[in-house]
Amino acid sequence: MIAVDKCIVCDSDKQLPFATLKEDKYYKRISMRTDYDVQYVICNDCGLVYQNPVLDESEMSELYSEKYRPKLDVNFFEKQATFFGEKLYSWITKRISLNGDKSVLDIGCGAGTMLIPFKENGWNACGIEPTKNISEFGREHFGVNITTGYYDKNAYPGKKFKLIVSSHVLEHVLYPEKVLHDIKNNMNEESYLFIGTPNITLPMVPYILGGDHVRLFSNRTLSIYLRKLGFDIVSMDNWVPRGIRAIVRKQNQSLKDNAPKAFDDYKAIKGLYKTVSLLKNKEGIEGFTQFSDRVIIRNNLLINKLCKYMENSGIRLVKNNGKPVNAIITSDDSNRKLLYRCKDPMSVAIDLVDKVDLRDHKIIIMFGYGLGYFPKILLNALGDGQRLIVYEDNIPLLKSAFLHLNLLGFLNDKRVIIAINREMLIKHLKDSIKETNTKDFFIMTNSMIDTDYLNRFKEIMDSL
Ligand SMILES: [Zn+2]
Repeated sequence: MIAVDKCIVCDSDKQLPFATLKEDKYYKRISMRTDYDVQYVICNDCGLVYQNPVLDESEMSELYSEKYRPKLDVNFFEKQATFFGEKLYSWITKRISLNGDKSVLDIGCGAGTMLIPFKENGWNACGIEPTKNISEFGREHFGVNITTGYYDKNAYPGKKFKLIVSSHVLEHVLYPEKVLHDIKNNMNEESYLFIGTPNITLPMVPYILGGDHVRLFSNRTLSIYLRKLGFDIVSMDNWVPRGIRAIVRKQNQSLKDNAPKAFDDYKAIKGLYKTVSLLKNKEGIEGFTQFSDRVIIRNNLLINKLCKYMENSGIRLVKNNGKPVNAIITSDDSNRKLLYRCKDPMSVAIDLVDKVDLRDHKIIIMFGYGLGYFPKILLNALGDGQRLIVYEDNIPLLKSAFLHLNLLGFLNDKRVIIAINREMLIKHLKDSIKETNTKDFFIMTNSMIDTDYLNRFKEIMDSL
């Protein structure tokens, strides 16, 4: 094992314990290991999450021997080609300008499934993969040109590629700056580099933490890191649930000085993982995984928005005995207001729900998620066939609620749908009308919500 004394993104030596994974399945495959716990720390200055200590080179090479994926299944790889390869191909080719040169190299290409759509579209495609059985499998089953071996500057000396793909590699390697530096040697001014890596701010994604993932980036830490190494970002977004995807080009100098300086990713990431570790303890990894897939598919857009919005600026939570009970919201024109005009939102919510009979209504619409007290109480009063649509367009507020009141549990309830903008609200309303075969809406709100806010949506309801 190697001790890591500083963060590769911001060079800070300030690190805090982040998570310990017990009895990791990858660590168990390394014969020289007797301790199978993986220790993660988080950089206190930028929020990069990384293993410390980390496997050394000989342990790494054993991990990526044939033990890494002992059973190879053609169906798995075919699915990968269809679900990820084709989507990736279209995402990349929409964002790069082609000038006749159609050469692509996939570093750490696995069985070469990402290269299949490139090959089918006339690209000169090749890949390099260290794991022997996987690379052989790719050559035999998919006819992809794969070299077995580790990528470095001697792998393709002097060769320039139009596109280099590094999909889910950076989180696995010990020294990513060396890999990225070598990649530059295989790029010219017209070349593009695609990078895919898990996003630590998408904590519901299965298997994001594991012995084989040395470090985990957020959108922001990855941007800063790439700029520091002299790459200019052409395009970057989140591909739920795969993580961050980015296209970059090489620059002649480091762009470090232009990188954003102050941000609070580390606090937010720690907050997100507090919730996840609770879930892991409760349901075990298996349950957590099933839960994740379902939640992600149903709430793809919402989760994507929440992950991009890392700052909680503009929202300050008011706590009572450590529990958030209210929020001070600062708007752009620096007006400050309290979210709730009452001392105890929970009891106001209970009182409100007590006064109405909700059982006869199929679709209940709640304007304002707030910190989640009202929707939570409302949900407790609903039966199986009923549906609750919650509208909240204040993303920072929703993010704060997510960090403090376990929005995940709420998202996991099949009866609940959260809309964060007008388009989503209309779509969910239309879907709910279709599914319940009724236009019986019951609009629920609390006395604290502005009437202006409600009027804005009255026309939507009328138009349905
Ligand atoms: Zn850092």
